Amino acid sequence: MRVLVMSDIHANLYALDAVLEDAGEVDMVWSLGDIVGYGPEPNACIERLRGYDHMAIPGNHDWGVLGQLDLTDFNPFARAANLWTREQLTEASREYLESLPLMAAHGDYTIAHGSPRHPIWEYLLYADMAQPSFDYYETAVCFVGHTHVPTIFRDVRESGEWPTLAIRERVPFYLNDDERYIINPGGVGQPRDGNPKAAYLILDTAARTVVHQRVAYDIAATQERILAQGLPASLANRLTWGR
Ligand code: ZN
Repeated sequence: MRVLVMSDIHANLYALDAVLEDAGEVDMVWSLGDIVGYGPEPNACIERLRGYDHMAIPGNHDWGVLGQLDLTDFNPFARAANLWTREQLTEASREYLESLPLMAAHGDYTIAHGSPRHPIWEYLLYADMAQPSFDYYETAVCFVGHTHVPTIFRDVRESGEWPTLAIRERVPFYLNDDERYIINPGGVGQPRDGNPKAAYLILDTAARTVVHQRVAYDIAATQERILAQGLPASLANRLTWGR
């Protein structure tokens, strides 16, 4: 099975469409949360995703928009965008977001937004932070988002080996049968690793490979839409830098 694994769409339809086209034929799409928040097209992004055979979970922004998290926990720009998004959501979009399970699994793969230990909020920025999470899911691999930074961590609690593995664009990474991994595809709608191109992964379950891919999209058009909706200008500006 060929799976498009992506996270943090953040209502950026131009980025999402670029990823869907660049990924080509896939059997399934897995979305790791934060479908909405920050960006100008929340309903259209949800509808796009629902057009695919897919598996999805909520992120902190999705929950913030639904009123399931206290918005004072968000920075002012995120809070403003969440309040705007809350007004925009159709009934169908709201019901869809409310229906999503906290975590989900398919075969040998689990998905969680932040981490398997604290799915909604925990940021796995460094390998040390990831190690405890290996106790909180059953499968060999867990895909996470939330940081918007592409990363591969492996479970080294017994081996003591180097815990962070290099992730290279368009170079297949082979999943070793004897190892467990927590893998972040990076962000679709608001990359934060200094590369403004939308990020995603292709998982090939037969070959047991993941491939990190980047694709350019119309950033200027997205920025115009953000400003036209009266969303904070900083949310538009940061897309230029991928920060
Ligand atoms: Zn996010």
